[in-house]
This record gives sequence, structure tokens and C-alpha cells, in this order.
Amino acid sequence: MVQINENYNVNLTSKDQTVETLKHIMEYVNAGHYWKAVRLFIEGQEKGILPRGAHIPGWLTESLGQKAAVKIVDAFARMPCFYCQNGLLPCETCEGQGYLYDMKTCDRCIGLGVAQCNFCNATGWVSLDYVPSGLQRTVINKRAKLAMRRIKTLLTQSLLPSHPKNDKSFKDYAQLFLDLNRQLGILENTLDLLKELPIITHKSIAVLNKTRAACIKSAWEAWKAMPEILQGMASALRLKSDNMKNDTEARRLVIRQAEYYQSLGNSSDNFLGTEWEHPFLRKAVKEVIGKKYSEKYFQ
Ligand SMILES: [Zn+2]
Ligand SMILES: [Zn+2]
Repeated sequence: MVQINENYNVNLTSKDQTVETLKHIMEYVNAGHYWKAVRLFIEGQEKGILPRGAHIPGWLTESLGQKAAVKIVDAFARMPCFYCQNGLLPCETCEGQGYLYDMKTCDRCIGLGVAQCNFCNATGWVSLDYVPSGLQRTVINKRAKLAMRRIKTLLTQSLLPSHPKNDKSFKDYAQLFLDLNRQLGILENTLDLLKELPIITHKSIAVLNKTRAACIKSAWEAWKAMPEILQGMASALRLKSDNMKNDTEARRLVIRQAEYYQSLGNSSDNFLGTEWEHPFLRKAVKEVIGKKYSEKYFQ
């Protein structure tokens, strides 16, 4: 049920059209057609049928009810980037192969063949430029929450090598590594974007600091798991090499790869100079966590 709230000081061209547009948007959202919903929302704003400005979340909640308003924000928060898949594109250095002409592992992508998408800052979500300004703060927070929840899930499931029931392949570890990196990208982006948003009230400063601290804590948890994941990659490759014919070039290559991931996992300059460096997030984590605890992971 759409109930346009008159208390908000919004100048809308036609109340009937506003009600109709909101109904259509909800139909799209409910059918999972986020893109259509989002496009209709932006069009509605351009035509003056839907309001603009910082009060949109409140206006939506009053007009549609909280559940429906949350769904619309979700549609904006979960819109995928136009250019990539899950924040990744083929690595240009090795042309997606993971190794260079001499069969040396590509250091830029650590042999994974993929690089971070610059259009979305490796988040896999559409750039905030496509989100109406009044919804940006809510969308940023939503994305950060999704990323933190995903990190928790990834770190608690049996994928980590230390888990007793672990029998994962190299590919499983690589996917886990990339998934965690995507979440780190989202948290990095969150910290960057929060800096730029205007501070409205003291309450918003408190909320901002809380979000910032939560993002950093979550990123730190994810980062701490990286050496273990790299070691999992090395173990999986060693196991693979055990089952290969002796004295073949293919087996030698797999052994070399295992050594590469083992040494990367033991290295203290984790990912410096690679695609997975996250320099801004690294700096923020370092400031908060402190050198004493982080020097094992960051230089
Ligand atoms: Zn590469
Ligand atoms: Zn992208």
C-alpha cells in the first residue's frame, strides 16, 4: 500500500504519478528486477515524480513502510557493476593466464589470472554515481554490512585449511581468496566514501566512527586469514603434484607454483606491489591496529 507522506517538504509534479511509479518500482523489486526498479526510480526523480535529497530514506519508509523501503535501498546496494564480474577483470599483465611467457607466475595477480576492476574499485557493485545522492549514505552502510557479514561467513566455514574436515582444491582456495579480497575492496571503498560524505549531525559522526571501526576490525580479521589460505593453496598444489607422473615439465611447474604460494604465505610484505594490496585499507588498519600487531602482515 502506497501512502504518500505530506509531512516531507517535497515538490512533486503529480501525486497520482508518484503513487503509480512507486507501485511499479515495488513490482520490479519484488520480481528481482533490480535494474528496472533503479532505472524507474532515477527517471522518476528526473521528471520530478520522486523526491531528491537527504530525506529520501525517511520519505520512502513513510510512504511504503519499512520493509518495502529497505527492499528499494537493497536494489541500489546490490546492483552489479556494468564492467566486471564480482569486481574482477582478466589480468592485463599475463592476459588472464596467471603466468608469463617463461612460465613464471605473474606477480601482479599472484598467478590467479584476474585483476581488480577499476570502475567499481573491485567491489563488484555499481559505482555510487548511479545511486541518488539522498540514498548514498544508506547504500554505503548496507554494502559495508553485507561485506562484513560475508567475511564472517567465509572465515567460519570449513574452507580454511586449519579446519579438520578440509579437503579443498587449489581452485576452492583461490575462490576464497578472491571472495575475501572483494569484501576487502568493499570495506576499503566504504572508508574512502565515508570520508567524503557531509557530516550532518553529532549522531552521524558517532555512527560514522562506529562504522569505520567495524570495517577496520572486519578487514583485519580477513587479512589475518590470508597467510593460511595461501598455505592451503600450496598444500593443495603439493598434493596434486604427488599424484602426477614423475619427471615431467607439468609436475615441475605445479611444484614451482606450490613453492611460490608457500613463500608468499610466509612473507611479511603480504601482497605489496600486487593487485591485492589495498593500500588505503592497509593504511587505515595499520593506524588502528598498531604496528606491534600488524607488522607480521604489513610493511
Ligand atoms: Zn597476471
Ligand atoms: Zn567492476
